[in-house]
Amino acid sequence: MNIQWYPGHMVKSKREIAESLKLIDIVIEILDARIPESSKNPEIDNIIGNKPKIVILNKCDLAEDTVTYEWIKYFKSKGYNSIDVDSSTGKNIQKVYNIVKETIKDKIERQMERGIIGRPIRALILGIPNVGKSTFINKLTSKSSAKTGDKPGVTRSRQWIKVNSSFELLDTPGILWPKFDDKKTALHLAFTRAIKDEVLDIEELSFEFIKEISQIKPNVITERYNIELSDNPIETIERIGKKRGCVVSGGNIDIIRTSNIILEDYRNGKMGKISLERPRKVDCNENER
Ligand code: GDP
Repeated sequence: MNIQWYPGHMVKSKREIAESLKLIDIVIEILDARIPESSKNPEIDNIIGNKPKIVILNKCDLAEDTVTYEWIKYFKSKGYNSIDVDSSTGKNIQKVYNIVKETIKDKIERQMERGIIGRPIRALILGIPNVGKSTFINKLTSKSSAKTGDKPGVTRSRQWIKVNSSFELLDTPGILWPKFDDKKTALHLAFTRAIKDEVLDIEELSFEFIKEISQIKPNVITERYNIELSDNPIETIERIGKKRGCVVSGGNIDIIRTSNIILEDYRNGKMGKISLERPRKVDCNENER
């Protein structure tokens, strides 16, 4: 579900999360493995302060394994345990508990020294809309029906959901806003449907998508649609439309229908696994500067 963010929403969201933070031991930040940079809320680390955090690279079924592995290394280099997860099938979901436990083992040891034994670890899930928070929670807690908690402003009593006897999740994930700062980020969010199609022009979106994919993975387009790539993305889209029978009267190509096909193919993984972002080298050296 998508939300239009206004300053009031952001303040409220931050306040609700600050309240939840008092109740939990660890934050589980969910990112989209295809776009870990764009799907990261820009203020999350300020908001959570010194709470321990792990990073889940969700939808790893749609991202390239080698690139996802680079991201895991990147987050580890920043001090965060990280793991790739496919919440729709449950891949790696069973490993999450061990990573959580490992991350806060010092705290657990300190509690044991003080005689506090058997207190369950409590976690809060955080992420931008549509990144897979509810699917992740449902998979981790083995629930089949999706819970829709994505309604800012709806106050509900907090409940804990048991993952196992030593691990509980706050039932409602914290929803954070995405980055709004640059065009590339907005496009990546839109390609992966983190932003509603209605707020963007679908033709422009498919144009930008074809432009980007033609540069980073040209074979994907030629193989999927059995066409030759053109230097001009519009022409490529027209060739795809023609192949797919998106022709209107007069022999013109229905660009909107073609654009939808292209974007849906990407979102559903029909083009294979495609990562749109890699960790930047400059970031890796950040601490040394
Ligand atoms: P939320 O808004 O963060 O709670 O996101 P949802 O859990 O509602 O998921 C948004 C969409 O992403 C839904 O259509 C899910 O089926 C899909 N989704 C969630 N996790 C995965 C995943 O790991 N892989 C794939 N392919 N789709 C996923």
